[in-house]
Amino acid sequence: MNIDIELIQESKIDKVDFNNLAFGRVFSDHMLVCDFKDGEWKTPKIMPYGPMTFEPSARVFHYGQAVFEGMKAYKDDNDDVFLFRPDENFHRINKSGERLAMPPVPENVFMEGLKKLLEIDGAWIKKGFGNSLYIRPFIIASEGAISASPAEEYKFIIICSPAQSYYAGEVRVLFAEKYSRSADGGVGFAKAAGNYAAQFYPTSLAHKEGYQQIVWTDANTHEYLEEAGTMNVFFRIGNKLITAPTNDRILDGVTRKSIIQLANDYNIDIEVRRVSVTEIKEAARKGELKEIFGSGTAAVINPIKGFKHQDETFELPDMEDSYATFFKEKLLGIQYNKLEDKHNWRM
Ligand code: PMP
Repeated sequence: MNIDIELIQESKIDKVDFNNLAFGRVFSDHMLVCDFKDGEWKTPKIMPYGPMTFEPSARVFHYGQAVFEGMKAYKDDNDDVFLFRPDENFHRINKSGERLAMPPVPENVFMEGLKKLLEIDGAWIKKGFGNSLYIRPFIIASEGAISASPAEEYKFIIICSPAQSYYAGEVRVLFAEKYSRSADGGVGFAKAAGNYAAQFYPTSLAHKEGYQQIVWTDANTHEYLEEAGTMNVFFRIGNKLITAPTNDRILDGVTRKSIIQLANDYNIDIEVRRVSVTEIKEAARKGELKEIFGSGTAAVINPIKGFKHQDETFELPDMEDSYATFFKEKLLGIQYNKLEDKHNWRM
């Protein structure tokens, strides 16, 4: 595949303090841009990262026709660079795009474009556990026209932002009772931009009460726990791990499916089934609820220390042999090429 390449004159990398990175604020030197026009994807370009111009009428601004992905590149001690299950992100962006009536990005544009971009910006991937280059592929409806229908022109773009491992502090969550993230037949399974905007307001209300995140429940009954804002959620009752099945309201997380596989590999009792608020509260009252944690590319695993539902609050115990720590070590070990990768997840 041809890729047009325009390199920057001078790298910005020396101006960046890699020991002090706020997530998603600094971007690497280059980005990949591929236009969809006249019914086809054109030759992708790698060019300096920087502002782009759009018509104010571009449909993405009016109708939110936008989908995205989140993935990471890791560097091992030998300076080799790895992606973790990138085929999953490739398939997911097109599954999301299909739901928003967008044309699928070809596999070679996504994969070869990404590899070339990482080759060029390889210095932005730092070694060491927790360091990574966060990769944000996205597709937007760039055509200037404000009739409420799918655009005929799109841009597929990849930008990259260096990231450090971060400690989110103690996370406590609210179980949703009023607002919903997604509905049956809706776009919850898609990484559609609007899914995130729609969470900001309810999440800001949760912040005011001292809760960092919301665990969303099913929109019909608010009784079944589904997922958090940018994470799938696992519950440990006794030694059993439980997570909700994916459906059209839940994002099919790559970290989640990797944890399910690892649980099977290591003979950890795992159930993929609906999990109710009542069950979790009862287990917590009996002292059987040992852990709750979220899973996602950004934080890998995020332990949850407590939750609130109606007027009851619950705190979780400090665990010695926590599943959260176990899975985090296994996943990081595979991502940084320190553990055997028996499922060929590294690329
Ligand atoms: N749920 C939502 C809504 C998300 O945005 C994310 C982040 N992509 C996840 C779950 C976790 O998915 P993954 O493990 O693929 O990052």
